[in-house]
Amino acid sequence: MTGKLTIVPTPIGNLGDMTARALDALEQADVVCAEDTRVTGKLLAHFGIQARLERCDENVIASKSAALVARMRDGKSIAFCSDAGMPGISDPGIVLVDAARDAGVTVNVLPGPCAVTTALVTSGFKHNAFYFGGFLPRKEVERIKLLESLAALDAALIFYESPHRVVAAVESIAQAYGERPVALCRELTKLHEEVLRLPANELADNLAARDAIKGEIVLVIALPDARAQQAASLDDPALHERIQAELAAGASKSALAKKLSRELGLPKNRLYDLILGM
Ligand code: SAM
Repeated sequence: MTGKLTIVPTPIGNLGDMTARALDALEQADVVCAEDTRVTGKLLAHFGIQARLERCDENVIASKSAALVARMRDGKSIAFCSDAGMPGISDPGIVLVDAARDAGVTVNVLPGPCAVTTALVTSGFKHNAFYFGGFLPRKEVERIKLLESLAALDAALIFYESPHRVVAAVESIAQAYGERPVALCRELTKLHEEVLRLPANELADNLAARDAIKGEIVLVIALPDARAQQAASLDDPALHERIQAELAAGASKSALAKKLSRELGLPKNRLYDLILGM
């Protein structure tokens, strides 16, 4: 008998999203490895499944992978669950898949709930491509730097965010992208689901005015507006005013040219010449 690894996604808020294959996999596994055995234990109890649970959180998964792979090679069938959604997406699990694949162990990844794809489609933003960035950096300087580096990417941008940091995150998005639309997707698939689409600067004001923000959140940023980028011109008086303001605030000329080039899709050397001449 050959063993195998089954990656089992679980609901991100609505237990009705547990798939028939996920239930079968958990029932049939010799061992269910879980990010948190209490969380997965409750899920198993809800569906009346009795399984042998083993804790396998992000602190131990790397060190336990070799032993788990050895057990699979001995014929054991192991299922892996994170707390919610697709294991391996901003969650533990990928290390075990990597180790199992390296060892030639069969890996079955079951499709299922995932906050990234649910939020992207929920946003309604038209796209041919998307970029998923996990959680945004906690430090503002790093957040802005990352956002600026992604400004011209012709893709919807998706980030996970905690309710405690979402105000600061959306402020950074507004700072980097101005009026570019953002969808706040909160508590997806749950009773108090909220989806709010606004220009980044308006969303920042909306969130800042709230007493409290609770729940789980995904931010989806619409594609850069091609027409707005084309309309940006070196002769635009608003651009000249902005350059003067940023220089007065101490911005470096080359860094400013680089930033504006990314943001507006204008050639960096022409922007630099313009800045030098001001
Ligand atoms: N592996 C999971 C998945 O497939 O979506 C994601 C795990 S990550 C540790 C948890 C983050 O996912 C949350 O902080 C939140 O940003 C997002 N998330 C999970 N469930 C969500 C929900 N129901 N609504 C909105 N965001 C959610």
